[in-house]
Amino acid sequence: MEPGDMRRTIGSVLGVVGVLLLGLAAVTAGVLPLGGAEPWSEVRLAPATAAPPVLEVVDVAWEPERPVQGTLFEVRLTGLPEGTEDLAGEFAGEPLHFREWGDGERVAVAAAPIEAEGELELQLTLPTSAGMVERRTIPIEIVPGDYRMERLTVAPRYAGGDRPPELRERIAAEAARARAVSAASHDTPRMWEPPFVAPRESTITSGFGHGRIFNEEVQSRHMGTDFRGAVGAPILAPAHGIVALVDSFYLGGNVIYIDHGAGLVTGYLHLSAQEVAEGDRVEPGQVIGRVGSTGRVTGPHLHWIVRYGGVTVDGMSLLELYGS
Ligand SMILES: [Zn+2]
Repeated sequence: MEPGDMRRTIGSVLGVVGVLLLGLAAVTAGVLPLGGAEPWSEVRLAPATAAPPVLEVVDVAWEPERPVQGTLFEVRLTGLPEGTEDLAGEFAGEPLHFREWGDGERVAVAAAPIEAEGELELQLTLPTSAGMVERRTIPIEIVPGDYRMERLTVAPRYAGGDRPPELRERIAAEAARARAVSAASHDTPRMWEPPFVAPRESTITSGFGHGRIFNEEVQSRHMGTDFRGAVGAPILAPAHGIVALVDSFYLGGNVIYIDHGAGLVTGYLHLSAQEVAEGDRVEPGQVIGRVGSTGRVTGPHLHWIVRYGGVTVDGMSLLELYGS
């Protein structure tokens, strides 16, 4: 199916209404407000120019058309005037970072949280001609992912139920440090460029999102992708980025987190060796570390994390969007 088949052209209808309202505003020599009509509203920022203002018809599309819980998807805008700046957007509480793509098209990555149900709002601020700003709120339906439950038996000290408070604090502090890398990534310029490289070419032994039951008691989600690997097998950086965190965590063992910029972060857990240091710049295909069995594991493997801001997603959805 062509991408164009999936487009949802809402712009044309809004554009017509917008022109009508702009006409009204011009007649009344007017300033705002034209009411808080949803799902969009108009705000006049500058006095009318000689020519009557024309509201561009901006087409908003996303792909896949029905994003799945726990995956990345793309938002595409067409019809913006050349040289448009101050374009802004937000989805699931995370800012969007639009980049120019081909013929004036703007593309941003967005993330559907795994717990999302029903519709989430895509919020856009679109600069138009004549000093206008158009704000749009567009509902996007998130469809359920195909996530299974599996039962695991692990050593009791890893099950979590009887952890002493100091240990729980350590685990929480380590998780917070990893989360801080993701939050800060929104302020890092985008360093990544397709295609992304898989961190390993090996078999996936446990996919993202599955529920896990430990010792019949503790239930959790598997918020990463497990790749098979013997201790010492190489792990590759998937794209350009800056190494943001290298440490040894209780659950994750030896970890590396890479900030690829524009909100995108990848993480690597249970390593036997870390071959980069914080602050290092990495490039696609570079060996950053080695598979191991440190931290909470039942055997050697790579646990791969992909996050867009605070939203952890299936890394395979990144490779589906931007893999080679
Ligand atoms: Zn894992």
